[in-house]
Amino acid sequence: MVNDLSAAGDPRRQLPSVDRLLAHEVLQAAMAEHGRALTVEAARATLTAARAALQVGGDVPDLTPLAEDALRRLAEMARGTLYEVINATGVIIHTNLGRAPLSRAARAAMDAVARGYSNLEYDLEAGTRGSRYLHAEGLLCTLSGAEAALVVNNNAGAVFLALSALARGREVIISRGQLVEIGGGFRIPDVLRQSGARLVEVGATNRTHPADFQAAIGPETALLLRAHPSNFRVIGFTAEAPLAEMVALGHAAGVEVMDDLGSGSLLDTSRYGLAPEPMVQQSVAAGVDLVTFSGDKLLGGPQAGLIVGRKELVAQLRQHPLARALRVDKSTLAALQATLLHYVRGEAEREVPVWQMIATPPDALAARAADWAAALHKVGIPATVVAAFSTVGGGSLPGEELPTRALAITTPAPDALATALRSGEPPVIGRIADGQLLLDPRTVLPESDETLLQAVMAAARSQTENNHD
Ligand SMILES: *Cc1c(COP(=O)(O)O)cnc(C)c1O
Repeated sequence: MVNDLSAAGDPRRQLPSVDRLLAHEVLQAAMAEHGRALTVEAARATLTAARAALQVGGDVPDLTPLAEDALRRLAEMARGTLYEVINATGVIIHTNLGRAPLSRAARAAMDAVARGYSNLEYDLEAGTRGSRYLHAEGLLCTLSGAEAALVVNNNAGAVFLALSALARGREVIISRGQLVEIGGGFRIPDVLRQSGARLVEVGATNRTHPADFQAAIGPETALLLRAHPSNFRVIGFTAEAPLAEMVALGHAAGVEVMDDLGSGSLLDTSRYGLAPEPMVQQSVAAGVDLVTFSGDKLLGGPQAGLIVGRKELVAQLRQHPLARALRVDKSTLAALQATLLHYVRGEAEREVPVWQMIATPPDALAARAADWAAALHKVGIPATVVAAFSTVGGGSLPGEELPTRALAITTPAPDALATALRSGEPPVIGRIADGQLLLDPRTVLPESDETLLQAVMAAARSQTENNHD
């Protein structure tokens, strides 16, 4: 190896040293902004790549192109790995894209507590230590009708905490039709076992009756559990034990009933032409002892697991050691509180982005898609407006579709255009249907329209350049 490198005429030996490359004015300016460590790393990466390229052949590059390559790498490093993207998929609650966008008020509330200090755990009246559990509790109780509430890191955590605190070493009865996998490896039967509870399955995959629960209740029973089969639908010869009957059976036997709603909703989805998603208020009204749901699905708030229910049970959960491990930070609580306030004021459809998106009528979407198409035509990019469907996503309302109007870009290579859009700044995520690239305005925030168009133009340009290469 050493011989190889020292061989006369090895072009790799003519590459500049890291220090010489760093002395280039382009990198000196960049170093002032990003610091020495990252700049050195970028310069090293450039030289490593150049050495590898020379091994295959070609000429030794000049100093300036090398410095520019290092600058490009530096910009990429300084950008980090988590940043904003434009969701043009038409999937409103897209788990891979960070689920619910937050309302203006929620973002402002997060900023206010993040900027300085807050009364997170401080009782301002008494001047002594207070409780962080107080913050969203009142609003959650008002909205759900429950006696008490607790907020944890996510709904998976909420279910795990509830089962650990209430059913460890005892039995939990659940229908065979509800042993669901939510995604990302979260399976109700696994969580049950992990919590130390014993799983008792009743009924059949398609049909479970109240009598099945009745027959399984015994001295070891801690809970009857209903889990909402969020992301799939069973059709045909099916039956589910009604929640109210599970409650009657459980309470007659002195056994608690818990309902994992998954998404849960505070608004009635059937008002928007969708199937009814179970509502939190309905479960509480049915007499369920503990209801769990997500903060960032149909609620449209920050990632959180929301638990509402009977006072003694919520208190038991709060005192469990896991509660501390699953606790939420101040910015989550601030965003959650602001989001819940939209519901209390009756303005959720207007202020919570998830509901704005669900409620946008096809006419308004058609007008936006037409504006996009007109802007692209001006620069010679062929695009049309087509009828398509958006979905709610987030493992809720499977198979339900919202009619939309999307921008369709006609290109011989839709996959290549999709790739170019994904590698833009900001990246734009669309979808391909019938050989066309579709961009659905429903999930694109209105303030992102101009950025989206610029990104499409840049991606289309990079494609024509590639075609001419
Ligand atoms: C989504 C979901 C969960 C998990 O909620 P996260 O907030 O993603 O942790 C649990 N149970 C059900 C039924 C769900 O739909």
